[in-house]
Amino acid sequence: MYRSHNCGQLRATHINTEVTLSGWVQKSRDKGFIVWVDLRDRYGITQLVFDEERTSKTLIEQAQNLGREFVIQVKGMVIERASKNPNIPTGDIEILVSELNILNEALLPPFTIEDKTDGGEDIRMKYRYLDIRRNPVKESLIFRHKVTQEVRNYLSKDGFIEVETPYLIKSTPEGARDFVVPSRMNEGQFYALPQSPQTFKQLLMVGGMDKYFQIVKCFRDEDLRADRQPEFTQIDCEMAFIEQEDILNAFEGLTRHLLKEVNGVEVEKFPRMLYDDAMRLYGNDKPDIRFGMAFGELNDVAQHKDFSVFNNAELVVGIAVPGGNSYTRKEIDKLISWVKRPQVGALGMVYTRCNDDGTYKSSVDKFYDQGDLAKWAEVTGAKPGDLICVLSGDKNKVRAQLSALRMELAERLGLRKPNEFAPLWVMDFPLLEWDEDTERYHAMHHPFTSPKPGQLELLKTNPGDVKANAYDLVLNGNEIGGGSIRIHDKETQSLMFDYLGFTPEEAKEQFGFLMDAFQYGAPPHGGLAFGLDRLVAILGGQETIRDFIAFPKNNSGRDVMIDAPAPIDDDQLTELSLKLNLKS
Ligand code: ASP
Repeated sequence: MYRSHNCGQLRATHINTEVTLSGWVQKSRDKGFIVWVDLRDRYGITQLVFDEERTSKTLIEQAQNLGREFVIQVKGMVIERASKNPNIPTGDIEILVSELNILNEALLPPFTIEDKTDGGEDIRMKYRYLDIRRNPVKESLIFRHKVTQEVRNYLSKDGFIEVETPYLIKSTPEGARDFVVPSRMNEGQFYALPQSPQTFKQLLMVGGMDKYFQIVKCFRDEDLRADRQPEFTQIDCEMAFIEQEDILNAFEGLTRHLLKEVNGVEVEKFPRMLYDDAMRLYGNDKPDIRFGMAFGELNDVAQHKDFSVFNNAELVVGIAVPGGNSYTRKEIDKLISWVKRPQVGALGMVYTRCNDDGTYKSSVDKFYDQGDLAKWAEVTGAKPGDLICVLSGDKNKVRAQLSALRMELAERLGLRKPNEFAPLWVMDFPLLEWDEDTERYHAMHHPFTSPKPGQLELLKTNPGDVKANAYDLVLNGNEIGGGSIRIHDKETQSLMFDYLGFTPEEAKEQFGFLMDAFQYGAPPHGGLAFGLDRLVAILGGQETIRDFIAFPKNNSGRDVMIDAPAPIDDDQLTELSLKLNLKS
């Protein structure tokens, strides 16, 4: 028996009990005649004491030779600690060791295994198994387990069945680039790893499994923007014989359950916002509504004066920064430089100070009088003491820029509180999105999403205006889930492929299996998928997903621990009938 108890378990009630513990040496303190060792395992830390007087000299020598992270087993008596440590649960006791076995020695770890470590990100990723011994990472993984456990409990209770779908599938254009896997048995042919189980879950609906879920890995070969992973996990769900309202209710229920069980937070019914309103009011399809600072569109009150910058702009739009009038000139200049950084890309920023006495002072006083500026304040909801920041230009660009500024200022003002949760449904996304590169419309969500009833005709004349039965669940400024009501008849699906620029042959080759299935009695269906990694991170009060993934990849998509990806042998290539044609 390696252990009778774990290292987080013993209390004063165990005093005078003989115990056996196993774990890692966290650290030791050597006073010559007495040695203390902190023994650590997943459950906590227990202090061991080796005492020349009370045990033996050889034992103390053994203890003195223990290195950090040695794996040891000890037997001994639980005794009361002379100086108690109120900071740890086992702080009332220690173990007077009578026997020590070294189970395995350890090299000196390349960084300290402490909550606050001296190891940088790269080295911690290379030795991730050591990093996982640290409390913050360990706790994050345990937290993730708790979330997935609650997801399974809730959905199973609600009648959902977890079904696995294949990882070796066929390459289909779902939006991102596929990872492909060569097939040895089928020369010259490739599988693709799923970007999501989308078509399979729809086929499960045709198969009559009317409530499906799966906690599943998805793979997308995208250039990795900050905090994305090439493989990530979804809570993937689909339901049949439902309307949009049923889906929203089901998954609002799940999210509310998680917030309650995991965070102890009760949330009211989730507000809903149309996509168009989200863009107009927050410049963003995933607005953080924990705080105000909604956009005020100023075209009506700021154009047609003598200020040509505004007159020539498609959109003039501002936000009121609470208490912002206290910013010094220098601070405002810094803000202007911030919005002009290439990452944000604004050409400049106009501002108006809202003085406590109700007067205004703006950077464009030459063109606007007090009455004009009072209208700006009214539209942006600015109060005395606030600062109105105004950007102008191309509508889409300027919305994105002001949205970035809004988030930055909220961060600086401490308005993005990690322990506050503000979920929101964003509804009625556009069906299609114009792609500048290919000069074509693409499905904004995916090609299986149905247009809003009665809008199919509009596809011919104003494709960009067609709205979809598509919805996103947003939490604290992050999209945590998204889905749609699907097309479930062959004609509409073929029509959709046609509008998306697929020839009938291409559509048949890539999605023939789905359209065939639709001819055999496909029920109305729809669903959504949550991004589990991000959901867990946000519930955990953080925004970076890496700490919640046991073995994440870095920004270049590499696993630096196992050093992947890596070349393969010529023999393997030959077996796969592959020849390399490397660019460098
Ligand atoms: N498959 C979709 C996605 O990965 C989610 C859904 O429509 O259910 O975004």
